Amino acid sequence: MSESSEFPDILQEIEDYIYEKVPKTKTGRMAHIGVLRKTDSYNIFTTEGSELNLASTSKKPESEEKIQRIVMFKRKQVASERRKGKEILRGLYKNNSDDIEKEEAFGNFNEDEDLCRLHDNLGGKCIDCKLYGFANAEEKDGSRHSRILTDSAFSVRGLNQREDITFNAQSEENESEASTALNSTAHTQPETFFPSIVTIRDFTWRELYWLIHLIESTTRYGAETSRTGYIDNQIVSIWFDTKETISNLELTKEVTKEIENNNGSLNDLSVQTVRKAMKETLPNSKVDIDDIKDDIKSRFESNEINFLEKLYGSQLRD
Ligand SMILES: [Zn+2]
Repeated sequence: MSESSEFPDILQEIEDYIYEKVPKTKTGRMAHIGVLRKTDSYNIFTTEGSELNLASTSKKPESEEKIQRIVMFKRKQVASERRKGKEILRGLYKNNSDDIEKEEAFGNFNEDEDLCRLHDNLGGKCIDCKLYGFANAEEKDGSRHSRILTDSAFSVRGLNQREDITFNAQSEENESEASTALNSTAHTQPETFFPSIVTIRDFTWRELYWLIHLIESTTRYGAETSRTGYIDNQIVSIWFDTKETISNLELTKEVTKEIENNNGSLNDLSVQTVRKAMKETLPNSKVDIDDIKDDIKSRFESNEINFLEKLYGSQLRD
């Protein structure tokens, strides 16, 4: 099949936003994916220490009331989704290493044919590096900016409405005896909701499919070594634009306003309520979410190597 005959019917209407090959220079074509992230376990969103990441923000747009929102940092979202992508690539490579043209499906490898790894071995050649960017001092063409744009996400509910958070109880008065015994880790309660937007720019349709597949299949966030951290991602809307729509913080405030306008209580949130409020706030989806998920299944999952070869083929060659 030729490339053009493979172009998904489902994307016909927004074809003008999609490249056949990734362009050399930045243009403004973007796909935005509205994702509702819902914690399903006691997630840990902390940085170095054990304190939960909190931000004092206006409860709703233009409201003077402040609430302490839990923050899911951008890098946590990105690192987890990249890790999932690399896990998929590694698994496919291991299972198919004898009968595929590796370079065509995965990009170049190092001498030892080790797949590119986050942190210690970013090669700059695989689809993950080409999408999310890399910095490698040893390469001649040393770095590439990410074409995936995300931002930290903020919980709908504020911390003051939660009862069972265990704080780091260390206080100034008893610091000497407190350090180990009371060094408990702060968790977020299950069913904490983080509305967020993931954006991809200057993209091919296979890159969009790959990104949606990663968002759909990533379930572990938070500390890498921890067994907690289950998150359910639900895609609420996919739309296309040449500019960004709204920040994640504004989105959370608008969603909060929408819920309260509909007489919903923040103390008693359901995924349906938050989803509905997100739908009301975000632009209408230009594609049917279930249809696109089905299309990804049939095109990617039925022949992953073929998909990857063509995905890789749509990239700018260095
Ligand atoms: Zn790479």
